[in-house]
Amino acid sequence: MFDLSQKLNELSQQGLYRSRRIIESPQGINLICDGKPVINFCSNDYLGLANHPDVINAFKSAADKFGVGSGSAHLICGHSNAHHALEEELAAFTGRDRALLFSTGYMANMGTISALVGRGDTVFEDRLNHASLLDGGLLSGAKFKRYTHADAEYLDNLLAKADGNKLIVTDGVFSMDGDTAPLQVLSDIAKKHSSWVMVDDAHGLGVLGEHGGGILEQMGLNQDDVQVLVGTLGKAFGTFGAFVAGSEDLIETLIQKARPYIYTTALPPAIAEATRTSLKIIQTESWRRDKLRKLTGYFKSGAEQLGLPLMVSTSPIQPILVGSSEQAVAASNGLYDRGFLVGAIRPPTVPKNSARLRITLSAMHEEQHIDQLLDALEKPCYDEYL
Ligand SMILES: *Cc1c(COP(=O)(O)O)cnc(C)c1O
Repeated sequence: MFDLSQKLNELSQQGLYRSRRIIESPQGINLICDGKPVINFCSNDYLGLANHPDVINAFKSAADKFGVGSGSAHLICGHSNAHHALEEELAAFTGRDRALLFSTGYMANMGTISALVGRGDTVFEDRLNHASLLDGGLLSGAKFKRYTHADAEYLDNLLAKADGNKLIVTDGVFSMDGDTAPLQVLSDIAKKHSSWVMVDDAHGLGVLGEHGGGILEQMGLNQDDVQVLVGTLGKAFGTFGAFVAGSEDLIETLIQKARPYIYTTALPPAIAEATRTSLKIIQTESWRRDKLRKLTGYFKSGAEQLGLPLMVSTSPIQPILVGSSEQAVAASNGLYDRGFLVGAIRPPTVPKNSARLRITLSAMHEEQHIDQLLDALEKPCYDEYL
Protein backbone atom coordinates (compact mmCIF):
# COMPACT_ATOMS: atom_id res chain seq x y z
CA MET A 1 0.00 0.00 0.00
CA PHE A 2 1.06 3.58 -0.54
CA ASP A 3 1.64 5.20 2.81
CA LEU A 4 2.23 8.69 1.56
CA SER A 5 1.43 10.46 4.80
CA GLN A 6 4.07 8.52 6.71
CA LYS A 7 6.66 9.37 4.05
CA LEU A 8 5.65 13.02 4.22
CA ASN A 9 5.98 12.99 8.01
CA GLU A 10 9.47 11.58 7.71
CA LEU A 11 10.49 14.36 5.32
CA SER A 12 9.12 16.88 7.73
CA GLN A 13 11.01 15.41 10.69
CA GLN A 14 14.27 15.52 8.73
CA GLY A 15 13.84 19.19 7.80
CA LEU A 16 13.43 18.13 4.18
CA TYR A 17 9.80 19.10 3.62
CA ARG A 18 9.44 21.62 0.79
CA SER A 19 6.70 24.18 0.52
CA ARG A 20 5.89 27.04 -1.79
CA ARG A 21 5.41 30.70 -1.04
CA ILE A 22 2.95 32.65 -3.17
CA ILE A 23 4.26 35.68 -5.05
CA GLU A 24 1.81 38.41 -6.00
CA SER A 25 4.19 40.85 -7.69
CA PRO A 26 6.38 40.80 -10.80
CA GLN A 27 9.87 39.39 -10.38
CA GLY A 28 12.33 41.96 -9.08
CA ILE A 29 14.13 43.04 -5.94
CA ASN A 30 10.93 43.90 -4.09
CA LEU A 31 8.47 41.03 -3.99
CA ILE A 32 5.12 40.62 -2.32
CA CYS A 33 5.42 37.13 -0.91
CA ASP A 34 2.56 35.51 1.02
CA GLY A 35 1.19 39.02 1.34
CA LYS A 36 4.39 40.41 2.86
CA PRO A 37 6.89 42.80 1.19
CA VAL A 38 10.35 41.22 1.09
CA ILE A 39 13.70 41.93 -0.53
CA ASN A 40 14.50 39.15 -2.97
CA PHE A 41 17.87 37.40 -2.69
CA CYS A 42 17.03 34.07 -4.32
CA SER A 43 16.05 34.69 -7.93
CA ASN A 44 18.05 33.64 -11.00
CA ASP A 45 16.93 36.80 -12.82
CA TYR A 46 20.54 38.02 -12.56
CA LEU A 47 20.25 40.95 -14.95
CA GLY A 48 16.76 42.15 -14.07
CA LEU A 49 15.23 41.27 -17.44
CA ALA A 50 12.19 39.24 -16.30
CA ASN A 51 10.21 42.45 -15.82
CA HIS A 52 12.06 44.74 -18.25
CA PRO A 53 9.66 47.06 -20.16
CA ASP A 54 11.25 46.34 -23.59
CA VAL A 55 11.00 42.59 -23.02
CA ILE A 56 7.38 42.95 -21.92
CA ASN A 57 6.56 45.04 -24.99
CA ALA A 58 8.18 42.54 -27.34
CA PHE A 59 6.11 39.81 -25.69
CA LYS A 60 2.87 41.79 -26.01
CA SER A 61 3.28 42.77 -29.64
CA ALA A 62 4.32 39.22 -30.56
CA ALA A 63 1.18 37.92 -28.83
CA ASP A 64 -0.85 40.30 -31.01
CA LYS A 65 0.90 38.95 -34.09
CA PHE A 66 1.17 35.20 -33.26
CA GLY A 67 -1.47 34.62 -30.59
CA VAL A 68 -0.56 32.66 -27.48
CA GLY A 69 -0.10 28.95 -28.19
CA SER A 70 2.38 27.54 -30.69
CA GLY A 71 -0.13 24.88 -31.71
CA SER A 72 2.16 21.86 -31.93
CA ALA A 73 5.69 20.51 -31.76
CA HIS A 74 8.46 22.10 -33.86
CA LEU A 75 8.44 19.18 -36.30
CA ILE A 76 4.70 19.41 -36.99
CA CYS A 77 3.55 23.01 -37.42
CA GLY A 78 4.82 24.79 -34.29
CA HIS A 79 8.15 26.16 -35.57
CA SER A 80 7.52 29.87 -36.25
CA ASN A 81 9.78 32.45 -37.83
CA ALA A 82 10.16 33.94 -34.31
CA HIS A 83 11.67 30.64 -33.07
CA HIS A 84 13.84 30.38 -36.15
CA ALA A 85 15.21 33.91 -35.85
CA LEU A 86 16.00 33.37 -32.17
CA GLU A 87 17.87 30.15 -32.99
CA GLU A 88 19.99 31.97 -35.58
CA GLU A 89 20.74 34.80 -33.16
CA LEU A 90 21.68 32.38 -30.35
CA ALA A 91 24.05 30.53 -32.69
CA ALA A 92 25.77 33.79 -33.60
CA PHE A 93 25.83 34.90 -29.94
CA THR A 94 27.52 31.70 -28.78
CA GLY A 95 29.83 31.40 -31.81
CA ARG A 96 28.43 28.00 -32.76
CA ASP A 97 27.20 26.73 -36.16
CA ARG A 98 23.63 26.32 -35.02
CA ALA A 99 21.32 26.45 -32.02
CA LEU A 100 18.13 24.53 -31.25
CA LEU A 101 15.38 25.70 -28.90
CA PHE A 102 13.99 23.38 -26.25
CA SER A 103 10.96 24.03 -24.06
CA THR A 104 12.96 23.84 -20.81
CA GLY A 105 16.54 23.34 -19.70
CA TYR A 106 15.53 20.15 -17.97
CA MET A 107 14.30 18.75 -21.27
CA ALA A 108 17.33 20.04 -23.20
CA ASN A 109 19.62 18.07 -20.89
CA MET A 110 17.53 14.90 -20.86
CA GLY A 111 17.13 15.02 -24.63
CA THR A 112 20.70 15.86 -25.54
CA ILE A 113 22.51 13.32 -23.38
CA SER A 114 20.17 10.51 -24.35
CA ALA A 115 20.46 11.39 -28.04
CA LEU A 116 24.26 11.33 -27.92
CA VAL A 117 25.05 8.27 -25.81
CA GLY A 118 23.38 4.94 -25.08
CA ARG A 119 24.15 1.32 -24.32
CA GLY A 120 27.85 0.57 -24.78
CA ASP A 121 28.86 4.23 -24.30
CA THR A 122 30.00 6.02 -21.13
CA VAL A 123 28.85 9.31 -19.65
CA PHE A 124 30.98 11.11 -17.04
CA GLU A 125 29.34 13.56 -14.70
CA ASP A 126 30.63 15.89 -12.00
CA ARG A 127 29.14 14.86 -8.65
CA LEU A 128 27.64 18.30 -8.18
CA ASN A 129 25.94 18.50 -11.59
CA HIS A 130 22.39 19.79 -11.83
CA ALA A 131 19.68 17.14 -11.38
CA SER A 132 18.63 17.38 -15.03
CA LEU A 133 22.14 16.43 -16.20
CA LEU A 134 22.26 13.47 -13.83
CA ASP A 135 18.78 12.36 -14.87
CA GLY A 136 19.73 12.69 -18.55
CA GLY A 137 22.76 10.48 -17.97
CA LEU A 138 20.66 7.83 -16.22
CA LEU A 139 17.95 7.95 -18.89
CA SER A 140 20.49 7.46 -21.68
CA GLY A 141 21.30 3.88 -20.69
CA ALA A 142 25.03 4.59 -21.09
CA LYS A 143 27.46 3.53 -18.37
CA PHE A 144 27.14 6.26 -15.77
CA LYS A 145 30.29 7.47 -14.00
CA ARG A 146 30.35 10.30 -11.50
CA TYR A 147 33.65 12.03 -10.72
CA THR A 148 34.66 13.98 -7.62
CA HIS A 149 33.77 17.64 -8.00
CA ALA A 150 36.03 19.35 -10.56
CA ASP A 151 38.63 16.57 -10.18
CA ALA A 152 40.30 16.36 -13.58
CA GLU A 153 42.89 13.78 -12.55
CA TYR A 154 40.24 11.38 -11.29
CA LEU A 155 38.27 11.92 -14.48
CA ASP A 156 41.38 11.24 -16.57
CA ASN A 157 41.70 7.82 -14.89
CA LEU A 158 38.04 6.99 -15.45
CA LEU A 159 38.28 7.94 -19.12
CA ALA A 160 41.30 5.71 -19.64
CA LYS A 161 39.23 2.69 -18.64
CA ALA A 162 36.01 3.52 -20.48
CA ASP A 163 34.33 1.98 -23.52
CA GLY A 164 32.30 3.27 -26.41
CA ASN A 165 31.60 6.93 -27.13
CA LYS A 166 32.57 9.09 -24.16
CA LEU A 167 30.74 12.20 -23.05
CA ILE A 168 31.90 14.45 -20.20
CA VAL A 169 29.01 16.47 -18.79
CA THR A 170 29.34 19.41 -16.41
CA ASP A 171 27.69 22.57 -15.15
CA GLY A 172 29.63 25.66 -16.28
CA VAL A 173 28.84 27.64 -13.14
CA PHE A 174 27.66 25.18 -10.48
CA SER A 175 24.10 26.10 -9.65
CA MET A 176 24.16 25.52 -5.90
CA ASP A 177 27.82 26.38 -5.24
CA GLY A 178 28.55 29.22 -7.64
CA ASP A 179 32.05 28.00 -8.51
CA THR A 180 33.09 27.22 -12.09
CA ALA A 181 34.20 24.02 -13.81
CA PRO A 182 37.90 23.77 -14.87
CA LEU A 183 36.86 23.67 -18.51
CA GLN A 184 40.24 24.20 -20.15
CA VAL A 185 41.64 21.13 -18.36
CA LEU A 186 38.47 19.09 -18.98
CA SER A 187 38.65 19.92 -22.65
CA ASP A 188 42.34 18.92 -22.85
CA ILE A 189 41.63 15.60 -21.14
CA ALA A 190 38.65 15.01 -23.40
CA LYS A 191 40.80 15.47 -26.52
CA LYS A 192 43.36 13.02 -25.17
CA HIS A 193 40.65 10.34 -24.83
CA SER A 194 38.57 11.31 -27.92
CA SER A 195 35.72 12.28 -25.62
CA TRP A 196 33.21 15.09 -26.10
CA VAL A 197 32.47 17.79 -23.55
CA MET A 198 28.96 19.08 -22.81
CA VAL A 199 28.63 22.22 -20.70
CA ASP A 200 25.38 23.43 -19.15
CA ASP A 201 25.94 27.16 -18.69
CA ALA A 202 22.54 28.00 -17.19
CA HIS A 203 24.15 30.38 -14.68
CA GLY A 204 27.00 31.76 -16.77
CA LEU A 205 25.23 32.93 -19.95
CA GLY A 206 24.45 36.63 -19.80
CA VAL A 207 26.48 36.96 -16.62
CA LEU A 208 30.04 35.98 -17.56
CA GLY A 209 32.17 37.03 -20.53
CA GLU A 210 32.65 40.50 -21.91
CA HIS A 211 29.56 40.20 -24.13
CA GLY A 212 27.61 37.93 -21.83
CA GLY A 213 28.58 34.81 -23.81
CA GLY A 214 29.06 32.93 -20.55
CA ILE A 215 31.87 30.79 -19.24
CA LEU A 216 32.97 29.65 -22.71
CA GLU A 217 33.45 33.24 -23.84
CA GLN A 218 35.27 34.01 -20.60
CA MET A 219 37.62 31.04 -21.02
CA GLY A 220 37.97 31.42 -24.79
CA LEU A 221 36.72 27.90 -25.61
CA ASN A 222 35.24 27.22 -29.04
CA GLN A 223 33.13 24.48 -30.58
CA ASP A 224 36.18 22.19 -31.01
CA ASP A 225 36.94 22.45 -27.28
CA VAL A 226 33.37 22.15 -26.00
CA GLN A 227 31.19 20.38 -28.54
CA VAL A 228 27.85 20.77 -26.76
CA LEU A 229 26.68 23.97 -25.06
CA VAL A 230 23.36 24.16 -23.22
CA GLY A 231 21.89 27.49 -22.20
CA THR A 232 18.68 28.28 -20.36
CA LEU A 233 16.47 31.28 -21.02
CA GLY A 234 14.65 31.42 -17.68
CA LYS A 235 17.62 32.82 -15.75
CA ALA A 236 19.71 35.79 -16.94
CA PHE A 237 17.56 36.06 -20.09
CA GLY A 238 14.54 36.60 -17.85
CA THR A 239 12.12 34.64 -20.07
CA PHE A 240 11.61 30.88 -20.44
CA GLY A 241 12.97 27.92 -22.36
CA ALA A 242 16.42 26.69 -23.29
CA PHE A 243 18.72 25.92 -26.21
CA VAL A 244 21.55 23.68 -27.29
CA ALA A 245 24.31 25.08 -29.52
CA GLY A 246 26.97 23.26 -31.52
CA SER A 247 27.84 21.83 -34.90
CA GLU A 248 25.44 21.35 -37.79
CA ASP A 249 25.58 17.56 -37.28
CA LEU A 250 24.91 17.87 -33.54
CA ILE A 251 21.79 19.96 -34.10
CA GLU A 252 20.49 17.71 -36.88
CA THR A 253 21.06 14.69 -34.63
CA LEU A 254 19.03 16.31 -31.85
CA ILE A 255 16.20 17.15 -34.26
CA GLN A 256 16.09 13.49 -35.36
CA LYS A 257 16.66 11.81 -32.01
CA ALA A 258 16.06 13.95 -28.90
CA ARG A 259 12.70 12.73 -27.65
CA PRO A 260 12.05 15.66 -25.28
CA TYR A 261 12.50 17.86 -28.37
CA ILE A 262 10.37 15.83 -30.75
CA TYR A 263 7.42 14.96 -28.54
CA THR A 264 6.58 18.28 -26.96
CA THR A 265 4.81 21.48 -27.90
CA ALA A 266 7.04 24.36 -29.02
CA LEU A 267 7.41 27.37 -26.75
CA PRO A 268 4.91 30.15 -27.41
CA PRO A 269 6.37 32.28 -30.23
CA ALA A 270 5.84 35.41 -28.12
CA ILE A 271 8.34 33.98 -25.61
CA ALA A 272 10.83 33.62 -28.46
CA GLU A 273 10.28 37.26 -29.50
CA ALA A 274 10.64 38.46 -25.90
CA THR A 275 13.88 36.46 -25.67
CA ARG A 276 15.25 38.12 -28.83
CA THR A 277 14.84 41.44 -27.05
CA SER A 278 16.53 40.07 -23.89
CA LEU A 279 19.42 38.88 -26.03
CA LYS A 280 19.90 42.38 -27.48
CA ILE A 281 19.95 43.86 -23.98
CA ILE A 282 22.42 41.21 -22.80
CA GLN A 283 24.75 42.01 -25.70
CA THR A 284 24.55 45.78 -25.51
CA GLU A 285 24.14 46.65 -21.82
CA SER A 286 27.38 45.44 -20.28
CA TRP A 287 26.76 47.80 -17.34
CA ARG A 288 24.46 45.12 -15.94
CA ARG A 289 27.32 42.60 -15.76
CA ASP A 290 29.72 45.23 -14.40
CA LYS A 291 27.29 46.20 -11.67
CA LEU A 292 26.60 42.60 -10.77
CA ARG A 293 30.34 41.95 -10.43
CA LYS A 294 30.74 45.00 -8.19
CA LEU A 295 27.79 44.00 -6.00
CA THR A 296 29.17 40.46 -5.71
CA GLY A 297 32.51 41.81 -4.49
CA TYR A 298 30.72 44.15 -2.10
CA PHE A 299 28.69 41.29 -0.63
CA LYS A 300 31.68 38.99 -0.31
CA SER A 301 33.86 41.47 1.50
CA GLY A 302 31.02 42.42 3.86
CA ALA A 303 30.25 38.79 4.61
CA GLU A 304 33.93 38.01 5.17
CA GLN A 305 34.19 40.85 7.68
CA LEU A 306 31.29 39.30 9.57
CA GLY A 307 33.03 35.93 9.55
CA LEU A 308 30.19 34.21 7.68
CA PRO A 309 31.01 30.78 6.16
CA LEU A 310 31.07 31.76 2.47
CA MET A 311 31.93 29.23 -0.25
CA VAL A 312 34.59 29.68 -2.98
CA SER A 313 32.28 31.30 -5.50
CA THR A 314 33.03 34.57 -7.30
CA SER A 315 29.74 34.41 -9.24
CA PRO A 316 26.44 36.07 -8.17
CA ILE A 317 25.55 32.75 -6.51
CA GLN A 318 26.88 33.25 -2.97
CA PRO A 319 25.88 30.36 -0.72
CA ILE A 320 26.42 30.44 3.02
CA LEU A 321 27.11 26.97 4.35
CA VAL A 322 24.94 25.87 7.26
CA GLY A 323 25.21 22.07 7.39
CA SER A 324 22.01 20.71 8.87
CA SER A 325 18.77 20.95 6.94
CA GLU A 326 16.73 21.97 9.99
CA GLN A 327 19.09 24.84 10.71
CA ALA A 328 19.11 26.01 7.11
CA VAL A 329 15.31 26.16 7.16
CA ALA A 330 15.36 27.99 10.50
CA ALA A 331 17.83 30.53 9.11
CA SER A 332 15.77 31.05 5.96
CA ASN A 333 12.60 31.53 8.04
CA GLY A 334 14.40 33.94 10.37
CA LEU A 335 15.50 36.03 7.39
CA TYR A 336 11.98 35.97 5.99
CA ASP A 337 10.64 37.36 9.27
CA ARG A 338 13.10 40.22 8.85
CA GLY A 339 11.95 40.86 5.30
CA PHE A 340 14.45 38.90 3.16
CA LEU A 341 13.68 36.05 0.81
CA VAL A 342 16.61 33.59 0.77
CA GLY A 343 16.20 29.92 -0.09
CA ALA A 344 17.33 27.05 2.13
CA ILE A 345 18.89 24.46 -0.19
CA ARG A 346 18.89 20.95 1.23
CA PRO A 347 19.60 17.37 0.16
CA PRO A 348 19.06 15.81 -2.30
CA THR A 349 19.71 19.08 -4.17
CA VAL A 350 23.07 19.29 -2.35
CA PRO A 351 25.09 16.53 -0.62
CA LYS A 352 24.16 15.42 2.92
CA ASN A 353 25.18 17.78 5.75
CA SER A 354 25.86 20.61 3.34
CA ALA A 355 22.53 22.46 3.51
CA ARG A 356 22.99 26.12 2.80
CA LEU A 357 21.41 29.50 2.33
CA ARG A 358 21.67 30.20 -1.39
CA ILE A 359 21.96 33.95 -1.73
CA THR A 360 21.84 35.27 -5.30
CA LEU A 361 22.57 38.81 -6.40
CA SER A 362 21.02 40.77 -9.23
CA ALA A 363 22.09 43.83 -11.20
CA MET A 364 18.91 45.41 -9.82
CA HIS A 365 20.18 45.31 -6.22
CA GLU A 366 21.81 48.37 -4.70
CA GLU A 367 24.56 48.36 -2.07
CA GLN A 368 21.97 49.45 0.45
CA HIS A 369 20.01 46.19 -0.06
CA ILE A 370 23.18 44.24 0.62
CA ASP A 371 23.92 46.33 3.72
CA GLN A 372 20.46 45.47 5.01
CA LEU A 373 20.93 41.75 4.32
CA LEU A 374 24.35 41.76 5.99
CA ASP A 375 22.83 43.49 9.00
CA ALA A 376 20.31 40.69 9.28
CA LEU A 377 23.04 38.09 8.82
CA GLU A 378 25.44 39.62 11.34
CA LYS A 379 27.10 36.83 13.27
CA PRO A 380 25.23 36.84 16.60
CA CYS A 381 21.93 37.01 14.82
CA TYR A 382 22.97 34.35 12.28
CA ASP A 383 23.95 31.99 15.12
CA GLU A 384 20.61 32.66 16.76
CA TYR A 385 18.84 31.40 13.64
CA LEU A 386 20.73 28.12 13.80
C1 LIG B 1 17.77 25.81 -13.94
C2 LIG B 1 18.72 24.83 -14.49
C3 LIG B 1 18.32 23.91 -15.45
C4 LIG B 1 16.88 23.74 -15.86
O1 LIG B 1 16.47 24.75 -16.70
P1 LIG B 1 14.91 25.02 -16.84
O2 LIG B 1 14.78 25.81 -18.08
O3 LIG B 1 14.52 25.78 -15.62
O4 LIG B 1 14.23 23.69 -16.91
C5 LIG B 1 19.27 23.11 -16.02
N1 LIG B 1 20.56 23.18 -15.63
C6 LIG B 1 20.98 24.02 -14.68
C7 LIG B 1 22.42 24.05 -14.29
C8 LIG B 1 20.07 24.87 -14.07
O5 LIG B 1 20.47 25.69 -13.10
